[in-house]
Amino acid sequence: MGSLVTALASYLDIKQRGGHWLVRIDDIDPPRQDSGATSKILRSLQAHGLQWDQSIIYQSRHADQYKQALTTLKPHLFYCRCTRKSLKEIKLYPGTCREFTTVRSDSATRCRVEDATILFEDEVLGVQKMNLVKAVGDFIVHRRDNLWAYHLATAVDDGQPNITHVLRGQDLLDTTSPQSYLMNLLDLSPPTYAHLPVLCFADGTKLSKQTHAPALEDAQAGQNLSAALHYLGLQPGKHKQWNPAQWIAWGLQHWCLSKVPVKLPIFSAASL
Ligand SMILES: [Zn+2]
Repeated sequence: MGSLVTALASYLDIKQRGGHWLVRIDDIDPPRQDSGATSKILRSLQAHGLQWDQSIIYQSRHADQYKQALTTLKPHLFYCRCTRKSLKEIKLYPGTCREFTTVRSDSATRCRVEDATILFEDEVLGVQKMNLVKAVGDFIVHRRDNLWAYHLATAVDDGQPNITHVLRGQDLLDTTSPQSYLMNLLDLSPPTYAHLPVLCFADGTKLSKQTHAPALEDAQAGQNLSAALHYLGLQPGKHKQWNPAQWIAWGLQHWCLSKVPVKLPIFSAASL
């Protein structure tokens, strides 16, 4: 339900602006991926009337672009062999390996951050500020196990000229500044951001597979959409006979980003 709420909001928002809704699969971490998950997510989106425009984008097919980005970033990179264990008690990376600016084997590639404040205007939260030195530290762009890091892949993909708006959960808010920082270094333009509150249980934990949120039942797509619209601050009323397309059409007529509550109502499985 949490994922549906965010997906629906992004769909309604961009469609109402006359744009295209794109789906990207962030599949750059094979060891952590569940092979059936992608097709299940896509099936679920379609069952809920959320049809994407253009072809699905797979990050796993963008290795060339990420490699190119790493080359452009070279003056800002260094090669770190610190182990996870040695950094365990430390909140921010202390810059231990900053002097290693030529490639060395068995190392993670980090991007040096400057002591400057990153500013951006969020469409939900207003002006956001972050000092990368104080909040993030030199961060990894390419992992020691030869996988691309999330910040690099996301910065390259979200910085493409056809990506104008990114609407996502507030759990990702803190990733925006390091990603915008990379986009600036890569001469890419950051999109407009909107970070929505996330759906939580009564104890404040976010709904996810890890927190044992009930799976979304595609067979009751209409009820799910009705609940999702409610969470987003809209009052569609009760329409037992409506199919997903009708719920979506109603949503498109009434969608308003400023109506989304600052904090979403607490999730309740009983309301479905
Ligand atoms: Zn290091």
